[in-house]
Amino acid sequence: MLERESAIKGLISKGVKYVAGREKISPELLAGKVAEGKVVILRHRNTYLGIGDGLKIKINANIGTSPDIVDIHSEVEKLKAACKYGADTIMDLSTGGDIDKIRKTIVERSPVPVGTVPIYQAAIESIEDKGALIKMDKEKLFEVIERHAEDRVSFTTLHCGITFKTLERLRKSPRKAMVVSRGGAFLISWMVANEKENPLYEDFDRVLEIARKYDLVLSLGDGMRPGSIVDATDNSQIDELLTLGELTKTAWDSGVQIIIEGPGHIPLNEVPANVILQKKICKGAPFYVLGPLVTDIAPGYDHITSAIGAAVAGWYGADFICYVTPAEHLGLPGIEEVIEGTIAAKIAAHSADISRGLKCSMEWDYKMALARTQRNWQEERKLSIDTSRFDKIHKRYKTTEKDVCTMCGKYCAIKTVEKYLGVKIITG
Ligand code: SF4
Repeated sequence: MLERESAIKGLISKGVKYVAGREKISPELLAGKVAEGKVVILRHRNTYLGIGDGLKIKINANIGTSPDIVDIHSEVEKLKAACKYGADTIMDLSTGGDIDKIRKTIVERSPVPVGTVPIYQAAIESIEDKGALIKMDKEKLFEVIERHAEDRVSFTTLHCGITFKTLERLRKSPRKAMVVSRGGAFLISWMVANEKENPLYEDFDRVLEIARKYDLVLSLGDGMRPGSIVDATDNSQIDELLTLGELTKTAWDSGVQIIIEGPGHIPLNEVPANVILQKKICKGAPFYVLGPLVTDIAPGYDHITSAIGAAVAGWYGADFICYVTPAEHLGLPGIEEVIEGTIAAKIAAHSADISRGLKCSMEWDYKMALARTQRNWQEERKLSIDTSRFDKIHKRYKTTEKDVCTMCGKYCAIKTVEKYLGVKIITG
């Protein structure tokens, strides 16, 4: 039975039980949220991951080859690194080399659920077979979606919400950065060249048929996500979101679990409105945000610009954060950038979890406060999100007094207060 159908019947599935244990909430409450569509459960082999309302915010790391850089070994290393630093899911966005082989390898080697974007492969194979992506047969698109589902990917991004109406809005209100979503750009080019409606929208029932067959979670993509903060929250972005809201209802009615994808580049003051709008329009479906990046001027540091946006988005209710690496807008990320992107997204998600009152997240900070007060460096290291960075900085210089660090040395504030107040600040 499909995960959603089981929840609607009030049954406690294996997935619900697994996720409830991990998130420390009651299985009945969780099943209720799955039935409402506010939580999705991804399956990966015999493990499950919950994303949505009331659960810890999850983070995704994108990996995968490009037409210029194809090294499957390096992608597996990125997969391992992202998982080591806390990625809850991995998306294989490969567009170079043997895409089937790379996807199968990543699904096989990944300890966490894997997602893909099938339109990439459908477009690339059409270019290889017919010379142009605009010659893509729509059957190819459905065949590739099914191929990915057969390989047991846990979720797929499908840009179902771009329609001729969206394009009309885009033409009437053009942007500075027109379309930056790769999947969105492929579909729009196909639609315009063939004068045909988006097959993922027009034949959404076929998409749902495949999703039902494999209990595949659909992540409805945001092909019109703004690629610059000056285009944020504009007509075409909102038009697509309205369509995604309608499709959410259709998917739910057929028993399919849905995630909604969101921006992109959004100025900080508009981030809350974007989350509120998505939650209203898509009736509480989990929100998966790419960043959002809150400024466009920091290439090389976009893990930071996106973490700022992600923390605020998470605070206001976003459930799933796609990392952005320092390589964003510059090139394919290497392993170091994958690590930096994962850590930045993890910090953003954790900060947002605290703001949402998640007790287990707050406990981590509580323990760190205690360790700092006690100047228990071993414990501080253990609790650190990145122990190698901890060692690198902490051990860089020698201290004159061994239980302090070189920032204040013998003038250590904590030690001074401890000496004169005669108490530990935090006593448990
Ligand atoms: S020396 Fe300063 S920075 Fe270091 S532990 Fe003491 S108070 Fe904190």
